[in-house]
Amino acid sequence: MVLSIFKCISCDKEYDIQEIRYCCECGDLLEVIHDLSQSLPSPNDWKKSLDNQMAVIAFRRYQALLFPSLPGNKIITLNEGDTPLYDVSHHFPHFSSIKLKHEGMNPTLSFKDRGMVSGISWANYLGCENVICASTGDTSAAMAAYAGSAPNMKGIVLLPKGKISPEQLAQPISFGAVTVGIETDFDGCMKLVQQLTEKHNIYLLNSMNSVRIEGQKAIGIETLHQLNWQVPDWFVIPVGNAGNISALGKGLRELFELGIIDKLPRLAGIQTEGASPLYESYQNCYSELVPKKAKPTKASAIQIGDPVSYKKAVRELKYFNGVVEAVTETELMDWKAQIDKLGISICPNSAVAVAGAMKLNENGIIKETEDVVVILTAHGSKFSNASVEYHGDESNPSANHTHTVSPNLEELESLLNL
Ligand SMILES: *Cc1c(COP(=O)(O)O)cnc(C)c1O
Ligand SMILES: [Zn+2]
Repeated sequence: MVLSIFKCISCDKEYDIQEIRYCCECGDLLEVIHDLSQSLPSPNDWKKSLDNQMAVIAFRRYQALLFPSLPGNKIITLNEGDTPLYDVSHHFPHFSSIKLKHEGMNPTLSFKDRGMVSGISWANYLGCENVICASTGDTSAAMAAYAGSAPNMKGIVLLPKGKISPEQLAQPISFGAVTVGIETDFDGCMKLVQQLTEKHNIYLLNSMNSVRIEGQKAIGIETLHQLNWQVPDWFVIPVGNAGNISALGKGLRELFELGIIDKLPRLAGIQTEGASPLYESYQNCYSELVPKKAKPTKASAIQIGDPVSYKKAVRELKYFNGVVEAVTETELMDWKAQIDKLGISICPNSAVAVAGAMKLNENGIIKETEDVVVILTAHGSKFSNASVEYHGDESNPSANHTHTVSPNLEELESLLNL
């Protein structure tokens, strides 16, 4: 009657779900496998019952599929989820339809909250009083917020000193996490996190923790629920460490295997040209991953040269007949401006996915007859510098620079052509 186990993605070795463990003895990643025949004995009844549960938070609503072995009274939530699915098809008639799933409309303004509701709730269930991550942005913000919301939990955030903008610092500090700047880069911080968690009773919440992936499955599942289970032809998503595309794939695969959906969408993972290890591997038929130092990009959340969840992502891309595309800095910033202008504020990482969808459409890979859902990963307000910079440079095609006039009516009227 075991509901969930950890299973190695390489050698299939299984471990007790109650064990605090992030990797297999063989060194590869684990994944959480649930016995869904136990938690969801009749998928169609479950599907029908969901409509009466719209007042319940998303994680609880879909919990039988997300993480059935987590006791309900241990859930730490900040009312994440139920994010908007914007239909922008009328602006882009070269798609049959295009919808934007805005995960930036979560409590800490990124999709990382979807993973932290499961990660922190599980830590709470296990009785962990200290949780830690290395991060420069959205992961630390989400972890700090959920740890702050838990009854008895201290969040510890390790950040590369001097490489953090005030904006990136503000969230973990204000959510009460112990925030430590270290004279190193992200990898240096990550190494210390691993050493600390091996030695001490501190729970690790970076993306190598597969419990977070289970919470992130909700993004795809909720989207399909919003679409009344009508499966789009494509899901397009930005890829950094590749945890989110793995989660999207796992959730959709489980829906398909249960018969809740009767068709598979295709997946498109999008990277920036300077940080494109998955794209390069795709071009070589996934023969190998060649880790590379990622070049700086405005899409800083996906400036990753050696993605932790590479193998999981490749498995999902193969299952969903997926493609991988890469976009330039100009493409992503111009598309960010185009979407922002519709009143939908998106971050540069989300814009990578939008730019990728447009490029795949132009190349004829996404056809004019196809329905597309693009996953937006964080809110534009987290990356306001990028917008200010873009609009300040009049050579950018969609720049909307600020005007200045003296406090004088005529001057203002003349500026406004009145
Ligand atoms: C974490 C993050 C990503 C990348 O997700 P992965 O799971 O690392 O591929 C993309 N966009 C934003 C805004 C993020 O915070
Ligand atoms: Zn193994």
